[in-house]
Amino acid sequence: MKSPVERFFSLDYSDARQKFLHAAAIAGGQHREYAHSTTGPLGERLTTDVVWLGRTDARNILVLQSGTHGVELYCGSACMIDILLHGRVPDSWAFCLIHAVNPWGSAWGRRETEDNIDLNRNYIDFDAALPRNDLYRDIHADLLLRDLSGAGLSESNAAIDRAAEKYGSRAVLTARSAGQYEFPDGLHYGGLRPSASRLIVEAVIKDYALVDRANVVVLDYHTGAGPFGYCEPIYLGQPTGIRYRLAKTLFGSWLTSQRSDGAVTPPQTGLGSELWERVGCDRAYLLALEFGTYPMTLAGGILRQDSYLHRKPGQLDWHASETKTIKNALREEYDPCSPLWRRLVLNQNRVIIEQFETYALSVLSD
Ligand SMILES: [Zn+2]
Repeated sequence: MKSPVERFFSLDYSDARQKFLHAAAIAGGQHREYAHSTTGPLGERLTTDVVWLGRTDARNILVLQSGTHGVELYCGSACMIDILLHGRVPDSWAFCLIHAVNPWGSAWGRRETEDNIDLNRNYIDFDAALPRNDLYRDIHADLLLRDLSGAGLSESNAAIDRAAEKYGSRAVLTARSAGQYEFPDGLHYGGLRPSASRLIVEAVIKDYALVDRANVVVLDYHTGAGPFGYCEPIYLGQPTGIRYRLAKTLFGSWLTSQRSDGAVTPPQTGLGSELWERVGCDRAYLLALEFGTYPMTLAGGILRQDSYLHRKPGQLDWHASETKTIKNALREEYDPCSPLWRRLVLNQNRVIIEQFETYALSVLSD
């Protein structure tokens, strides 16, 4: 018999979707799909799938999201499948599982959406002034590879190292990854309007009346930052007020805070948490669950090669060897093909759910 590690982790977007929907059917969840207008590299239809477990009128909701960054789908997908098959919905709560928030990115093996938007930088209030990232402007040209040669990569690395000497490594890492709204072909571009995937998240919030509930906890699964296999629950907003207090009740000293620079990722703009801060329910908040893989590089490692592939004029050749090499390396960076890593993910997800079960009862009486 196959182990959970073999059964819950998937080969690709379609496999993940099928496994998720199969587990949802076993669990008796109600399924609704949100179609995307794009298709996958083999012409696959793309959907974000929502499964509701528990009473539709529950006053308290746990929302789980996977694949905000497309290629990171597999960790969150496996965790959701485990919850569907083995989880228990606490009294007066319901679970809302959002699978493949950014299905284009999952199918095409990219972090970004179909329009090169980093979805987790796209949740800003577009009626307000755009966030500034002045240092990104200085390093943008150096981050974009001119080709896929070793010389091009060395040139880019050397330029980023020089910027780090001048401004400091942490400042360059922050500038590179915090989000920028000036260069549509650049890294961590936040866009100028809500992306299709953000609009789907907003539709889910509306369709399930999530803001009318007493308590909403949103856990957004991510991978790629931090020690191998280690999960870090991260509070993304200002670490004050009722939301922060509730998040501390949930995760205690395990919780880190991005805005006080105590988290593995530097402060960023346009995060999913910003949307939940605006929806009008002060007991609704989003936390990132960041599962570490390999050491982060200052310049963004393989992300730059993937960016080049999608920037290159002409149609991307999915079957070309350079495409396969880059896509496989990117996948490994965000979904290590390691039984040990996968066991660490699933075991910590069980701890997260146990923490949540305690929280689910205690928070109702506070
Ligand atoms: Zn991520």
